[in-house]
Amino acid sequence: MVSQVELQQRIEAAYKLLESCRVCPRECGVNRLQDSKLGFCRSGLNPVISSVSPHHGEEPPLSGTKGSGTIFFTNCNLRCVYCQNYPISQMGNGAERSSGELACQMLWLQDQGCHNVNLVTPTHFVPQILQALGMARERGFNLPLVYNTSGYESLETLGLLDGIIDIYLPDMRYGDNKAAMHYSVAPHYVEANQAAIREMYRQVGNLVMDEQGIATRGLIIRHLVLPGGLSGTEKIMKFLADEISRDVYISLMSQYFPAYKTAEFAEINRRINEQEYDEAYDIKMKYGLKNGWVQEFE
Ligand code: SF4
Repeated sequence: MVSQVELQQRIEAAYKLLESCRVCPRECGVNRLQDSKLGFCRSGLNPVISSVSPHHGEEPPLSGTKGSGTIFFTNCNLRCVYCQNYPISQMGNGAERSSGELACQMLWLQDQGCHNVNLVTPTHFVPQILQALGMARERGFNLPLVYNTSGYESLETLGLLDGIIDIYLPDMRYGDNKAAMHYSVAPHYVEANQAAIREMYRQVGNLVMDEQGIATRGLIIRHLVLPGGLSGTEKIMKFLADEISRDVYISLMSQYFPAYKTAEFAEINRRINEQEYDEAYDIKMKYGLKNGWVQEFE
């Protein structure tokens, strides 16, 4: 674990990134310390939070019996046209909080008995999260931290999280940059995402669980199957098998439904069918990636 002294140095380095923002790969260059101009993620100096609660629907090692302590951050560094949380990610639903208030929320989740604190869409607020963590630790916070992200990350920012994040929970959304650009306005998503996954794996390795089956450390990949093969499952599974580990845990998600702007994109304006999900599962197994979870097909 990183010491409080080291954490303070990381906080200072992280706030430096906000001066001409390069917290994520977009590198907007706006000064978020002054809040006068917002970047792509529409976020300023203070964290904005939409909800804080124990969550029982995450992967079993995260939710366990007492729930995963989710903190949903408002705004996002992606613009997925199918976002299922668009009121939070794109429309700004949430309330601005201080880092001190965020620290209190972490402590409250610990008091509720949650197994971990699950930072949902945290990327654009990493400096503020680190500052809150420093405050929470001084008051006894000691739960594992889950970094639950779309996977569009900068290596510099991830480096500041080394030894601080216990469980990385990134999406691998696309195997193809054209799709990433078209549906999420994310230039070079594949390169940024794969580099991020390599770094996360270097930091925490494969999933480790305690004797109750609760995650204590490691990497879990989420892959949402999109209609028409647009999520690039073959390329993603090949990358994981060849460059990460055949033991990596993968959550293969069937829950896609049309939302937000999908009426403007006919090819994704439907749910996936059972055959599409089965094909994604078969690809995963073909590459020897046996660990993880499947969802009931709805
Ligand atoms: S965190 Fe926001 S402002 Fe900073 S580079 Fe990313 S999108 Fe731009």
